Amino acid sequence: RLYNEVIELKGNIRVFCRCRPLSESEIANGSASVVNFEPSSDNELQVICADSSKKQFKFDHVFGPEDNQDAVFQQTKPIITSVLDGYNVCIFAYGQTGTGKTFTMEGTPQHRGVNFRTLEELFRITEERHGTMKYELSVSMLEIYNEKIRDLLVENSTQPTKKLEIKQAAEGTQEVPGLVEARVYGTNDVWEMLKTGNRVRSVGSTCANELSSRSHCLLRVTVMGESLINGQRTKSYLWLVDLAGSERVGKTEAEGERLKESQFINKSLSALGDVISALASKSAHIPYRNSKLTHMLQSSLGGDCKTLMFVQVSPSAADLGETLCSLNFATRVR
Ligand code: ADP
Ligand code: MG
Repeated sequence: RLYNEVIELKGNIRVFCRCRPLSESEIANGSASVVNFEPSSDNELQVICADSSKKQFKFDHVFGPEDNQDAVFQQTKPIITSVLDGYNVCIFAYGQTGTGKTFTMEGTPQHRGVNFRTLEELFRITEERHGTMKYELSVSMLEIYNEKIRDLLVENSTQPTKKLEIKQAAEGTQEVPGLVEARVYGTNDVWEMLKTGNRVRSVGSTCANELSSRSHCLLRVTVMGESLINGQRTKSYLWLVDLAGSERVGKTEAEGERLKESQFINKSLSALGDVISALASKSAHIPYRNSKLTHMLQSSLGGDCKTLMFVQVSPSAADLGETLCSLNFATRVR
């Protein structure tokens, strides 16, 4: 319980900032980095604005281009493992498309991200505790696109996927009736689930990357715990959320379908910001009902739940405007 006590002292909402390296094409274009890191500080960064003025930002932790997936996971681990102690946990990756949200959460086969490392760690700890606790883990995967919820673990190419709705359950919690909860026994099962989810996600879209930047992808791990000492049972959720891209669409693009999508994205991202900042300021009214995303996560946000937001940014001068928007968003929720 040592880790949890540390978290309690620091509060239940954390914001980490992660800046990706300049890409090969940015380097080839001669792009300069406008994001600087204080070598002696692990929680501050500086942005050089177009007029050469400098803006300082402070977070619970800052990861620079040199920080690898393991460094990120080491800081994340104490928060996520509290789900095994009965806490609900939400982890979000927020930021402009191309800043590394999916890299942080999903990662690549060579550089596995938070999702896979988390499940690996949860299985390791459940094994370690097997004399005193019995755990059952299951996984759900869903997508929110234009305020519609889709189950990503239902593979059905012939019928349109069933639309899911959020229902208020008796104990004041939210449920999504019909959502698949797949029991997982090890990391191999999880890997298969993630592959299924990604396959389902890309069906019906001409370009999977394009679509994925405009929808929220939520991985939910349900943990059922039972103490072998006193029989006490717990049920808790860990949500790992890869949010839709936060970029504002250009005026020329903003027509028809694209305009509708961007309005839905703006609405849900600002609803999320509103909820987290209301929680951070201990406001009496928390506006959960303003989007599907916040409504669905209602019982996992607030109270003694743990929340971690990764704010992902690009170092490139070309992205300066969006970088400042994301950092300002993060400042608001902190
Ligand atoms: P997003 O999901 O925010 O749109 P991606 O995760 O797809 O962004 O990242 C865009 C590209 O940058 C990918 O090719 C990804 O591998 C690379 N990338 C992102 N973050 C890092 C990082 N920290 N280190 C190395 N490559 C990264
Ligand atoms: Mg992505």
